Amino acid sequence: MEQNITEKIISAHAGKDVRAGDVVFVDVDWALVQDGTGPLTMDVINEMDKGVDMPSKKCIFLDHASPSSKFELSDSHNKLRENADKYGMDLNEVGYGICHQVMAEEKVSPGQLVVGADSHTCTAGAFGAFASGFGSTDIAVAMATGQIWIKVPSAIKVELTGKFTGTASAKDFILYLIGKLSAMGATYKTLEFTGEGVRNLSMESRLTICNMVIEAGAKNGIMEADDKTAEYIKHERPQQKKDYKIYKSDAGAEYEKELTINLSEITPQAALPHSVDNVKPVSEIDKKIDIDQAFIGTCTGGRMEDLRAAAEVVKGRKIKKGVRLIVTPASARIYKRAMKEGLLEIFMSAGAVIGTPGCGPCVGIQGGILGTGEKCVSTANRNFKGRMGCSDSYIYLASPATVAASALEGNITAAGEEK
Ligand code: SF4
Repeated sequence: MEQNITEKIISAHAGKDVRAGDVVFVDVDWALVQDGTGPLTMDVINEMDKGVDMPSKKCIFLDHASPSSKFELSDSHNKLRENADKYGMDLNEVGYGICHQVMAEEKVSPGQLVVGADSHTCTAGAFGAFASGFGSTDIAVAMATGQIWIKVPSAIKVELTGKFTGTASAKDFILYLIGKLSAMGATYKTLEFTGEGVRNLSMESRLTICNMVIEAGAKNGIMEADDKTAEYIKHERPQQKKDYKIYKSDAGAEYEKELTINLSEITPQAALPHSVDNVKPVSEIDKKIDIDQAFIGTCTGGRMEDLRAAAEVVKGRKIKKGVRLIVTPASARIYKRAMKEGLLEIFMSAGAVIGTPGCGPCVGIQGGILGTGEKCVSTANRNFKGRMGCSDSYIYLASPATVAASALEGNITAAGEEK
């Protein structure tokens, strides 16, 4: 039976061959919760009273409120710490990093099956793994029993050719694709990225792309593992053996739809309020839209290549008076590397504030909540009303280079076009 990569990984974890549309129970390699979704998961685990299966592979992240901004969240953190202790689960403390970034740095390998009570768990598809978000109670079952149910998604193949030119980056590409597909255009499907364009992408870019497939409704995003995947793992985890299994789609695998996109034709893009698919080239956006805040960070825009691209733009310059620039590295590892490379110095000299590794203001809990009527340009992945803590505010999504140039100009501007 000819299968695509997602069907192959699910088959291997179900113990039988599957096709799109089948509903199966699968063994889980990793399961995660974060501080917003984890407390309910812990309640259900305790109610089930079965303990936790392979607790070192069941991960708790204190990343959304990092550090906590109110006592209720501090209480949730304590509940998660107590349950981590009780069951011997893998606890990732405040300031250690966003769950999806830490999973990439330390844990996920090609061919694995990763589930999480966070919708951006799909990020790990960049390793050639099946990775998807689920509800807190499904994850409780996965943590207690080591299994979860899945309806095998049908797949859309996205063939990438070429490579980025100028300041265009992975974020510009994925915004462009979501604009084309719409926010519901891939609902419960796999977005499988393939072709020489993928091989031209860094692992960090691949993580950014797979992170945002959920914004088109996809169940998972996936890319075949290759030499760059192996190099990334070797660099981040030198102690890990290369004993993982790499799956590839069969030549005759079935796809519901096929698209081809040439990365060399991608230009800087932005998603306008209040929907991620309200995408336009930055060159077509009204320059009279003044911004109050610029945010560089999150699980889709706070990695080293993001910080490097933004630092390149602001180096030796000052951000516009009246604009706040907040830079929040996605993990402690990135924070340290950025500090060593002098990137934090560049941002601070330009007038930026550096946040604690974690989600920062992305989800409107702490670290840069917007005020009434304010406008923010952000490297995050969501811009619906109220996302950054105020229902009467406006979020524009763009690449790190565009956000940095916009902070200098005070309005949304592509890098290279600032005065
Ligand atoms: Fe969710 Fe934002 Fe945190 Fe990513 S950075 S996990 S999108 S809150």
